[in-house]
Amino acid sequence: MSLSPTTATAVRPSTCPPPPADDLIRRDRARLWHPYASTTAPGPLQAVTDAEGVRLTLTDEAGVSRRVIDGMSSWWCMIHGYRHPVLDAAVHEQAARFTHVMFGGLTHAPAVQLAESLADLAPGDLDRVFLADSGSVTVEVALKMARQYQISRTQAVGGRLTRTRFAALEGGYHGDTLGAMSVCDPVTGMHAAFADSLPRELFLPRPPRLGAAPEAVAVWADRVRTVLHDHRDVLAGVICEPVLQGAGGMWSYDPEALRVLREVTHAYDLVLVVDEIATGFGRTGPLFASEGAGIVPDVLCVGKAMTGGYLTQAAVLTSDRFARAVSAGPQRALMHGPTFMANPLASAVALASLELIRAGAWRAQVPRIEQRLAAGLAHLTDSPIVTDVRVLGATAAVELDHPVDPWIAARAALDAGVWLRPFGRLVYTMPPYIVTDDDIATITAAIAAVVHAEEAR
Ligand SMILES: *Cc1c(COP(=O)(O)O)cnc(C)c1O
Repeated sequence: MSLSPTTATAVRPSTCPPPPADDLIRRDRARLWHPYASTTAPGPLQAVTDAEGVRLTLTDEAGVSRRVIDGMSSWWCMIHGYRHPVLDAAVHEQAARFTHVMFGGLTHAPAVQLAESLADLAPGDLDRVFLADSGSVTVEVALKMARQYQISRTQAVGGRLTRTRFAALEGGYHGDTLGAMSVCDPVTGMHAAFADSLPRELFLPRPPRLGAAPEAVAVWADRVRTVLHDHRDVLAGVICEPVLQGAGGMWSYDPEALRVLREVTHAYDLVLVVDEIATGFGRTGPLFASEGAGIVPDVLCVGKAMTGGYLTQAAVLTSDRFARAVSAGPQRALMHGPTFMANPLASAVALASLELIRAGAWRAQVPRIEQRLAAGLAHLTDSPIVTDVRVLGATAAVELDHPVDPWIAARAALDAGVWLRPFGRLVYTMPPYIVTDDDIATITAAIAAVVHAEEAR
């Protein structure tokens, strides 16, 4: 479609209907890449024609339309649901002013107010904010901050720089860019094929599961203390997802493990980077999982739900003390600056999303979701193919004894009225916080339908 500026102003979305879904899917296949997908053997595709509240209207290539519950919150982010009036208004109001300006040498109200709001909500003294455009980018920035911190500290004492590497937890996931990939699980993560072209980082064993015996946690802690002690001179820092490892396997672990990492990194002046991109803004119960564990990291990454899922934006938070140490290094500056940093439209909607968080409905919603998911999924442990059911906050994962067929699983879930996207041996959900009890019952029934479809295979 080519529109001159004058005709463009006259075009409203409602007068320009999208092409039919079957045509859309055919054209998509000819032109687009999808995440972790092949262009020659593409999986089934659904066209989204509408989204409101917790529901998506999906049409498949046979032209069959369904209105289903989004059990994935569009990958953790749509916590308040689609077409939320407050978030819609924030986007429209900012769009009527200006949608983007560079952030080098310029500032604007949405960025300043968002930073103040984030600093106010964040644990401890984390009140210095770097606004980036995606979760992976915040991880890159966090790793660079940690390295710059060590460069600065080394310079201050006149030593030789050896502290350049990172320790990460096995089973972790931190994003898809090169630096982030280097701290994802090197074997079970999605980036094993790149092992030879990435920096070799150090991996700590995955902490014992939430609810494990204190002795198991103590054994883990001894091992980690020893490894970090032995590597203290070559490490810049430690990175982890707090309490819940997401895309690396939906593994919830004992918060004591996080306190051990805080204690050891503090003792050796290693930078503790906590990646709350998935867990932030209430997903696991507390506002931040690290806060629930009673720790304050040196560097905190948030993303995904920050804009209520409306636009792509993420943030890195540090203390002013840490930021001053970085700024005192030889470069005299943090060496990072994305084009779309602090995008005003994204900042405005993130600010509005934080206002909804501040209003606090999630504090009742998340525990209710946790309790309903646990009650609705408990019986699945009776299935001969189910090896584990894990529920934490507004998340649930059912682990099978074999990899799920993603196409059969997605179809079984759709037939039960829910959009799910299982991966590996996991059928999992992290619904929008606004789901009703009936919606949750539909989700748990859909997960059971996937398990039954796998039993029958
Ligand atoms: C999704 C995710 C990322 C990457 O964020 P993107 O916005 O996809 O780049 C990093 N860390 C964790 C824990 C995540 O869940």
